[in-house]
Amino acid sequence: RAKAGGRNRIEFFEAGMQTEVEERLAIEHDMQDGIERGQFDLHIQPQVDASGAVVGGELLMRWTHPVRGAVPPNQFIPLAEESALILRLGDLVLQRACEALAQLQRQGLRLDLSVNVSPRQFRRADFVDRVREALTRAGARAEGLILEVTEGLLIDNWADTVSRMDELVALGLRFSIDDFGTGYSSLAYLKKLPLYELKIDRTFVRDTPDDPNDTAIVEAILSVSKHLGLRVVAEGVETAEQADFLRSRGCDCLQGYFYGRPEPLAAWLARQG
Ligand code: C2E
Ligand code: MG
Ligand code: MG
Ligand code: MG
Repeated sequence: RAKAGGRNRIEFFEAGMQTEVEERLAIEHDMQDGIERGQFDLHIQPQVDASGAVVGGELLMRWTHPVRGAVPPNQFIPLAEESALILRLGDLVLQRACEALAQLQRQGLRLDLSVNVSPRQFRRADFVDRVREALTRAGARAEGLILEVTEGLLIDNWADTVSRMDELVALGLRFSIDDFGTGYSSLAYLKKLPLYELKIDRTFVRDTPDDPNDTAIVEAILSVSKHLGLRVVAEGVETAEQADFLRSRGCDCLQGYFYGRPEPLAAWLARQG
């Protein structure tokens, strides 16, 4: 076909868009299917204190697709967020987390489990009830549960967010701000929210202690947190140098490949106690 180059480019672009849409629909369909077939499960990555003792872990979702293999969360969580699928996945994670917590508590182990909560899941009208029910069903006390939310959650519906957090804190669980420092929210919210901890995003940890800017940012976060009485977890700790630096600056808690990669939750649970 004799057409102008520009027009062909548009057609090519549109064709590309279409396959992208098709691809997304296919993944959404597979996710739906995968939930029913039990293809989603949890890994856990340990968190250690300054002495290196394990104090708990973060639960991370994994999808084992029969054809695609291991699909990383960064490829399916954002997509799930665009539909109601994130709600089903969120329920699944919450239930599994509470069961794991109950198992630890029955063994008398005081380990904390952190769960990532999507904004859409958090904003759901009956979220508080669902958390309460998941705990009750599993027979877990809320005290060991930490919910990780991101700064994005704090940008709109401020009043609703605060009152919902208050309700959940009243149940006994705790809140953590994940990927701290990467959002666009102000520091003012730190003193107004019922927070337990901040997680320094791993992009700040990565180049410490060599990069003076990242080092300064990490030190500033640790200083603010200490004054506000917040626990700090450093994410993405990969080297002994990073760990030494963080500990020397008073970082309470460390998480990263240096201490342990995420591993299947069931295997980890079996080794505790
Ligand atoms: P996140 O919550 O910030 O989780 C930390 C991510 O960093 C995990 O990736 C973890 O495997 C990775 N990581 C840990 N240590 C290191 C390290 O030393 N170096 C490097 N380079 N990476 C490290 P993962 O498991 O792929 O999860 C990615 C993101 O997916 C999570 O980021 C979280 O935002 C989301 N996600 C995972 N599970 C869930 C879930 O159950 N619910 C929701 N809503 N989101 C989840
Ligand atoms: Mg997290
Ligand atoms: Mg994080
Ligand atoms: Mg992250």
